Amino acid sequence: MTGLAASAGYAAWAGRGAAWAQATEPVVMTGPRRVLPAEYGSLVKLCFNENSYGPTAAVMEAMRSAFPYANRYGYPDAGIMPAIAAHHGVGVDNVLLGAGSSEILSAVGSAFLQGRKKVVGVEPTFGAVYEHATGLKCEAVRLPLRADYHQDMDGLIQAAKRNMPNVGFVYVCNPNNPTGLIVTADEIKRLLDGLPDGVPVLIDEAYHHFVEDPKYATSVQHVVAGRPVIVTRTFSKIAALAGMRLGYGLAPANLIEQMRAYSDNLSVNVLVKWGGAAALKDTAGLERVRRDILQTRKQTTAALGALGYSVVPSEANFFMVHLRREVRGVIQAFRERGILVGRPFPPMFEHLRVSVGTPEEMNRFLQAFKEILPAH
Ligand code: PLP
Repeated sequence: MTGLAASAGYAAWAGRGAAWAQATEPVVMTGPRRVLPAEYGSLVKLCFNENSYGPTAAVMEAMRSAFPYANRYGYPDAGIMPAIAAHHGVGVDNVLLGAGSSEILSAVGSAFLQGRKKVVGVEPTFGAVYEHATGLKCEAVRLPLRADYHQDMDGLIQAAKRNMPNVGFVYVCNPNNPTGLIVTADEIKRLLDGLPDGVPVLIDEAYHHFVEDPKYATSVQHVVAGRPVIVTRTFSKIAALAGMRLGYGLAPANLIEQMRAYSDNLSVNVLVKWGGAAALKDTAGLERVRRDILQTRKQTTAALGALGYSVVPSEANFFMVHLRREVRGVIQAFRERGILVGRPFPPMFEHLRVSVGTPEEMNRFLQAFKEILPAH
């Protein structure tokens, strides 16, 4: 167990699921996966880019301290809005809070796709934005990744120009899910400068905290400069609060105002507001999580390299390994060994996406990998 995993926060979290583990009905996890309650605890969950290390002790303590407010609509909220605003050097009117960043991604779609507008982005990427657009009967213009799996900024600019005046917004996930590859600060600037005037750009920074490449920079600077940019962040990844649901969007006040109509200001619960505020303060705790995850990712991908498999150079808490064979049967073979890995991401049918778990979990993954796939 790592130092972090041995901490009080991790120990508290590790008692997860005890109550419903007695039940016998299959549980539907988010997505199409069905598992029996008794099996859930023993599965190695490397499929949703969750944070297996769990919330830090300070975050757990803050959430526990908020339980006395569980019966209230109006309650002390740990100053979460001003805390986020101060964290980024923006005003509270530049912040929209959501039950996960997913709520903000949907609000962007609802606000800016009005009148059958289109969203422009790459594929594969985080699919929720396109699914929401399709649900609104709006078109998603999806460009392929470049041959090196990077996102094609020139392609996005051209596609936006071709589809004007019907472009509602451009979507860039940075780093991208599922590849883990970044768009550099220079490329983001080139995109913003090259797009037709006023087209909003949604930059999804769910995995921001894991990036080490100095050519990357957050796009919050463009929000501060008043450009039509919406940056989304989440507490699900670095702060390990995926099940608690907290995320936010940062944008110029006029864009936030348009999105506010589509967000429900009661969707975020009191516990996670306290947990989120504590996470913003617990820089040492989050730094330990970040370090442990990156070290574990590097050890795992080095081991895969030694087996003769190449890995897309990820800057996130997950990576893609090139199997040089169809991924679907391999996913099933991992499932039979109690390991959940990522789904296929068309058209990257030979790449397996794997979230970075604890060192113990990654050892189980590597053991299974050696059983399932030949060394090259
Ligand atoms: N954006 C990206 C790129 C993601 O991968 C995810 C979740 O996996 C989300 C957003 C949604 O995260 P949440 O709604 O938990 O904040």
